[in-house]
Amino acid sequence: MTRRKLIAANWKMNKTAQESVSFVNEFRELAKKIKNEIVIYPPFTSLPELNKAIKNTNILLGAQNMHQEEKGAFTGEVSASMLKNSGCEYVILGHSERRAYFNESDELINKKTKTALKNNLRVILCIGETLQQRESNQAMKTVESQLKTCLKNISNEEIKSITIAYEPVWAIGTGKTATPEQAEEMHKFIRQMLKKLFNEKVSRETRIIYGGSVNESNAKELLSMEDIDGALVGGASLDARSFAHICSS
Ligand code: PEP
Repeated sequence: MTRRKLIAANWKMNKTAQESVSFVNEFRELAKKIKNEIVIYPPFTSLPELNKAIKNTNILLGAQNMHQEEKGAFTGEVSASMLKNSGCEYVILGHSERRAYFNESDELINKKTKTALKNNLRVILCIGETLQQRESNQAMKTVESQLKTCLKNISNEEIKSITIAYEPVWAIGTGKTATPEQAEEMHKFIRQMLKKLFNEKVSRETRIIYGGSVNESNAKELLSMEDIDGALVGGASLDARSFAHICSS
């Protein structure tokens, strides 16, 4: 089975609903011939409008986060079924900004993953080391431990709905990209881990995408690596032309 490439746009806290729709109106034409899977992750407030705007296009919708409980007294939070109901096919879990600014632990991310899957949301699970961890030779150990905990008690069937995003924290929003070789080395390692944690088939079939300052000039080289199955794009996904260029790389 060949792994279809996935290019994801993480807009973070950018774009009002109107701005999101303007983006899609421009991007949908540019995206028509793109064969890769394309998912846009706007802020929650843009989801209902974008759900209408992406009708009859090859663009899918995802959310940037969700709460681990199904419902209840969690002021300010959004549940998996609310996302599903707003047209989301996907949700990003464990983004390094959630880990760093909102104290999300691997255990919490594991709970969120289970809730998302129960609600038929596909998951982009983010993992990756900090600069300090890389410089002290702890990058692989960190990624191994994140994978083990975030994927605890996930079945061979459930893992089919998960895409792993390797995002070295030092490369996110910094303009500093991992070299294709650095990224490939870690992607290969993640694939070995998937073989240990699940089996050979899972290791072969699970998509592992790269994130961290991907842009028009470095996308092609990164995406041509054997174990890099797509990209999670932040800053460079805010402009329709630039994102379309990356999507067709
Ligand atoms: C991200 O938000 O996941 C990301 C990789 O951001 P950027 O492309 O801006 O580094």
